[in-house]
Amino acid sequence: MNLETVLLLETVNFAAEKHKTQRRKDPEATPYINHPIGVARILSYEGGITDITVLQAALLHDTVEDTDTSLPELDAVFGATVARIVQEVTDDKALSKQERKQLQVEHAPHCSHQAKLVKLADKLYNLRDLNRCTPSGETARTGTPSGWTPQRVQEYFTWAVQVVKGLRGTNAALEEKLYQLFKERGIET
Ligand code: NDP
Ligand code: ZN
Repeated sequence: MNLETVLLLETVNFAAEKHKTQRRKDPEATPYINHPIGVARILSYEGGITDITVLQAALLHDTVEDTDTSLPELDAVFGATVARIVQEVTDDKALSKQERKQLQVEHAPHCSHQAKLVKLADKLYNLRDLNRCTPSGETARTGTPSGWTPQRVQEYFTWAVQVVKGLRGTNAALEEKLYQLFKERGIET
């Protein structure tokens, strides 16, 4: 087996351990790890990306934001490049959701090419999921229906357009698929 294959398996195993108790927000509460694996797969299969550090960063892209993983830990285990890409795609949780969303729009054009690729694939995955079915909210825990309204889904799309516009010229195949999705939703770009 070549070194890159071993590295990818180490990385997907690390991410799976970190996300092991988490679920996505879709009605089926899909295991969280399906998302980072799907993002890495979009990059390789649809985007033609073979840069192993980008694929590793895709697998790890939500570990710092959503689990107890730290950037120094990623640096120690996977090296400085992977840790730096993950840092670039990690929101600062000390800020309000609104501020985080605004900063994503502002920072997108200034990210490294590698981070831009992960951002494009992350958006494509999440928007496809929102198109497939609407998040069902916290019904199971609170007993109160609180799924996303169609308006919230649409707001998420219009925000994503702003981020994706700042990533123009990064990967033609992924951008084409994103703009097609926006067109299908009737969003002006
Ligand atoms: P959230 O940020 O709460 O959720 C979106 C994120 O959830 C995605 O970016 C993705 O992040 C993750 N995710 C998990 N499962 C899925 C899935 N199945 N499909 C898509 N994404 C998934 O939502 P919003 O962006 O809508 O929240 C932004 C703002 O909207 C906040 O300020 C919030 O308070 C507010 N809000 C608005 C409401 C409205 O009706 N307009 C109602 C309630 C809140 P990742 O890839 O990192 O996992
Ligand atoms: Zn993500």
